[in-house]
Amino acid sequence: MNDLRQISAAVARPLTQLGRAAFRFVFPPSCPRCRREVEFEERDGRGRLIAPVLCHQCAADLLPPPSRRCVRCGLPVGSHAPTDGCPHCRSSKFRFRSVIRCGLYDDAMRSACIRAKSSTESPLAAALVNLLWLHARHELDSEQIDVVVAVPRHWTKRLLHRHHAAETLARVLARRLNKPHGRGLLRKIKWTLDQSDLTAAERKLNLKDAFAVWSRPRSLAGKTVLLVDDILTTGTTANECTRALLHAGATQVIVAVIAVVPPHAR
Ligand SMILES: [Zn+2]
Ligand SMILES: [Zn+2]
Repeated sequence: MNDLRQISAAVARPLTQLGRAAFRFVFPPSCPRCRREVEFEERDGRGRLIAPVLCHQCAADLLPPPSRRCVRCGLPVGSHAPTDGCPHCRSSKFRFRSVIRCGLYDDAMRSACIRAKSSTESPLAAALVNLLWLHARHELDSEQIDVVVAVPRHWTKRLLHRHHAAETLARVLARRLNKPHGRGLLRKIKWTLDQSDLTAAERKLNLKDAFAVWSRPRSLAGKTVLLVDDILTTGTTANECTRALLHAGATQVIVAVIAVVPPHAR
């Protein structure tokens, strides 16, 4: 019986590879942002696409010029990068340890992030987080992450929109880091107003007790959690998620986002 299974697997594998090659010939891989054909795509050992890739031009459009960034909030800083925060975040009481980001929420990155929220643009969301991986791989690899979780939505929003960009980002990053994706681990248990229309004080009140970890007590004990979202504005949402994760026993939380909103755009 085992021999039969091995023979059928040995026959099926080349046929699957041949089928994929034929599919790629008819439908060549394309950049999810500009739809131009790309020559390169990355697949895992079983031939599954890891994430769509952006073409060189789109990657260049979205990546900011190299600069030092504040470890606490992800904003650019001068040649001297203080470890206790920059002028923009020094007075903020962040519970998360650091922010890893790809770019700034400005111009091209802003429109790409808005597009990636749409239900038909899941490949663009995956390509953006792949860009984050390529841009910040060393930082992400060096953090000893135990589990990757997305900033969650309330269940009423899940009913209305199946695609959730943050969940796509967490799935791709978990696969890249070869760590568990804690899908459903962190939940939004309170319906809240849209944060963008609120003041800083109202944002905090709006999100108070909005998140909870949904698993065995202390299941995160001693764990380093990578909390993933598409953008970071004032950090209030990430902070409230971090509060719930630390309450469930996590040792520390590191935030990874596609883009950080600069103070002038908040
Ligand atoms: Zn492109
Ligand atoms: Zn800062």
